[in-house]
Amino acid sequence: MDAPTNVLLTEWDGPFGLPPFEAIRADGFRPAFEAAMQAHRQQLDRMAGCGQPPDFANTIAAFDAAGEFLHRVDAVFACLTVSATTPALQEVQREMAGPLARHWSGVYQDAALFERVDAVYATRHEGPLSPEQRRLVERLHHDFVRAGARLAGAPRARFAEIMQRLAELTTRFGQNVLHDESTWALPLPDDAALAGLPESVRTAARQAGAERGSAVPVITLARSMVVPFLTFSSRRDLREQVWRAWVGRGEHAGSHDNRPVALEILRLRREQAQLLGHPHYAALNLSDTMAGRPERVWALLDDVWRRALSALEGERALITEEMHEHAGGELAGGLQAWDWRWWAEKVRVRRFALDDAELKGYFSLPAMVAAAFDCAGRLFGLRFKPRPDVQAYHPDVAAYEVLDADGGTIGLFLHDNFSRPVKRSGAWMSALRWQHRNASPGGVAALPVILNNNNFAKAPAGQPTLLSLDDVRTLFHEFGHALHGLLSDVGYRRLSGTQVLRDFVELPSQLFEHWALQPQVLKRHARHHQTGEVIPDALIARIDAARKFGTAYDTLRYTASAIVDMAAHQSTEPIDDLAAFEARVMAERGLPPEVGMNHRLPHFQHLFAGSGYAAGYYVYLWAEVLDADAFEAFVEAGDCFDPGVAARLQRCILSRGDSVEPGEAYRVFRGRDAHLEPMLRDRGLIGP
Ligand SMILES: [Zn+2]
Repeated sequence: MDAPTNVLLTEWDGPFGLPPFEAIRADGFRPAFEAAMQAHRQQLDRMAGCGQPPDFANTIAAFDAAGEFLHRVDAVFACLTVSATTPALQEVQREMAGPLARHWSGVYQDAALFERVDAVYATRHEGPLSPEQRRLVERLHHDFVRAGARLAGAPRARFAEIMQRLAELTTRFGQNVLHDESTWALPLPDDAALAGLPESVRTAARQAGAERGSAVPVITLARSMVVPFLTFSSRRDLREQVWRAWVGRGEHAGSHDNRPVALEILRLRREQAQLLGHPHYAALNLSDTMAGRPERVWALLDDVWRRALSALEGERALITEEMHEHAGGELAGGLQAWDWRWWAEKVRVRRFALDDAELKGYFSLPAMVAAAFDCAGRLFGLRFKPRPDVQAYHPDVAAYEVLDADGGTIGLFLHDNFSRPVKRSGAWMSALRWQHRNASPGGVAALPVILNNNNFAKAPAGQPTLLSLDDVRTLFHEFGHALHGLLSDVGYRRLSGTQVLRDFVELPSQLFEHWALQPQVLKRHARHHQTGEVIPDALIARIDAARKFGTAYDTLRYTASAIVDMAAHQSTEPIDDLAAFEARVMAERGLPPEVGMNHRLPHFQHLFAGSGYAAGYYVYLWAEVLDADAFEAFVEAGDCFDPGVAARLQRCILSRGDSVEPGEAYRVFRGRDAHLEPMLRDRGLIGP
């Protein structure tokens, strides 16, 4: 009998170039990756050896268009391994990580290729290049230099060694955190242990128990369980146990200890930066951001830290008052880290009368998806046409053809909203195909295929899934990233969609969150799922009043982690004790121990489970300065759907990808640089 065809090796002629997902087999990926890497290598060798003097078309545009097959297979593989993984796919992932990393470092360290890119770069201001083409030359050149293309001899070999060792260490760091999270659970055997927990937390704890083969409900160290437990459990002793286990992840002596792993990563990154001519890793990393250099990041962090530290006292006063009324005075040992959220919740309920269960009734998932689509329609003229005929990798994935104001198709949007055991936690946007017009010979210009993944708990059949306010914000956040991908209108793949500088990428997503809670959006879409009643004005007012309580606490916890990240990656001296280093930095800043940090170094995966956010945890706050200031443009226009501002936002930012330097893109949109005040006001750090 013939072996079944490996569809990964065939042309995909489904709608929007989608593969026949149902026919993909895990064992098809290795041969597909091998064929795709070989095809890419041959394209690049032909380019480098073409005998023509290097120019934009035969070098830069050609490099951008090459590897289409590899990108295609890689995008499908990445999508399946995060959203619908299997043991067989995980095995391919482990098997192929090395060969793929070697392929890409071979590409960026190819001396003949770099010589050509470098030659076009040197003359980029002389030729007839458009600004977008010049930008592409600069971005590609930067990619090569950053990957060590300028190094030769021993430093070059050492650089490759460092990168490979870093890949091993960051993988191990993530696995160690996972180990500590998966081996710890707090059993809640009886009513006394469950005291204070709302039904939603009890359900999640029963579910977690069942998944671990436990007959009783358990609390695990997943953030989505720890935070509600610390907020609602009236058992102070159990809150303390959970807190200590949570902040101790990665910090246990033995084979899963992350302290030596993190120290070695920091040491190697310093060496990596120095090989590339920077004094420390923060300087290297920030050289390719809007911030540009550490001083500008510190200016923002220092300012926000000072204000949040003093704003915390207002929150502390409300908590202390609540404690005195209800705990009959002092707590034994005073207010501890595991007490803060619990008392803050008491304040929230009593002063703002906000009850999660009451709210959820107004936020059904279908209504909130409709709200997000409606906002995109009113702002940018987009329409989302359901395409039930388009099958993705799971029946839960909804497909929509995206049409612009003239009725033309601009892309495909795939919405995968529900949590599944085989899906990574969290929420993210990704692309199966980026928009561009740089088709390889014989190919066609690409329309974007954009995905949003969320992890909402699916309601039983026949009932709508109800969202919390946080869930609604997450839905809008990821949809903002999706719009950045869908509205992209650039010539080249490398510049498309969300592939922008790291401290700019959260602008579209965080900006879109602002629409979720606009009264005119709520009045139109937030209807009670049983009665159809529109959300009452009084409830909208309570949501608004409660919004700023707790922001100082959240701001301090976030900023503390961002400060430690910067300090660790800016250190030019070797650090020899991770915990002591962290404690010293925080003591100098005066972090109240009862507040704590979002992430401590031994489990700070943003920094050490990959390099994506190393010396870069500040980017959320940086982008928040931009999104708060950008939304002010709508406020100033007197209408959150003002057509003029929306058109400018689309033209200057959402359609531009990385084809324009982001600071310049923002100035064209706003007529000036972003001001700090709107962000400080939104966080309650200055008065209205
Ligand atoms: Zn985001």
